[in-house]
Amino acid sequence: MQTLDFGGITVDRIVESEGPSFHPGFIFPDATPEAMAREMDWLLPHFLDAESGRLLMSLHSYVIRTRHHTILVDTCVGNDKERPSTPPWHRRDSAWLDDLRAMGVPPESVDFVLCTHLHVDHVGWNTRLDNGRWVPTFPNARYLFHKHEYAHWETHEMPNVGSGTTEGSFEDSVLPVVAAGLADFVDGDHEVEDGVFLEASPGHTPGHVCLHLQGGGDHALFTGDMMHHPVQCAYPEWNSRYCFDPALSRATRQSTVERYADTSTQILAAHFPVPVVGRIVSNGARCKFLV
Ligand SMILES: [Zn+2]
Repeated sequence: MQTLDFGGITVDRIVESEGPSFHPGFIFPDATPEAMAREMDWLLPHFLDAESGRLLMSLHSYVIRTRHHTILVDTCVGNDKERPSTPPWHRRDSAWLDDLRAMGVPPESVDFVLCTHLHVDHVGWNTRLDNGRWVPTFPNARYLFHKHEYAHWETHEMPNVGSGTTEGSFEDSVLPVVAAGLADFVDGDHEVEDGVFLEASPGHTPGHVCLHLQGGGDHALFTGDMMHHPVQCAYPEWNSRYCFDPALSRATRQSTVERYADTSTQILAAHFPVPVVGRIVSNGARCKFLV
């Protein structure tokens, strides 16, 4: 993804991994081959791997640089984490942090870290391993956690659904941040600064939030895991197998697709593959994701 510019506010992406991922019917239990086939003309070639039939997906973070602050949105899986149920995520050794530095963002310069929710693939780089201890990767940042989201994970472990379980991520990637005094427990409408603010988008998890960015007359919406893949622009009724509250997740997604269809709002999701950014546009009776 090229650097995006919203009136002087820039957005960059740091990739942890990307490529062919789940089969549609695995991550979206309601997906059928017929429904997928109807959307093929726009899903290929960016969003579906024609050879394997797998969805193309990405694991990435966003770096927002305003005049005043550097804001990180979602922090992927992280390095050195014990995630034996998901081999590609187990004891990773990726260049994510070096890539961030190469972008001109040393860890000390990050002012805010926003986790859209507290699933394992959105909190990992909150911490790093230092002499056998998990320490905050961004020592000068305020980490923003929605208060309902945090309260939920304080008392729940994600049900064991195979890959994607939290598998200790709350303990190794969230609690050390709180212990270091770097966490802010915020409301769903929290404003980070002028033109950068949260909106509650519950369903995928109880306290999931999206982030709005307004600058230079443009609008971007960071949707986290409210949508996992562009095909959900056509089928917003499809929940992922990881959605906590199916009815609420579906309703939140449907109202978002309706609200932003045929507008200039740029959608920046947590797992959409390159070219990543796009808009929701009408496509007959349904919508599609236009890059
Ligand atoms: Zn995710």
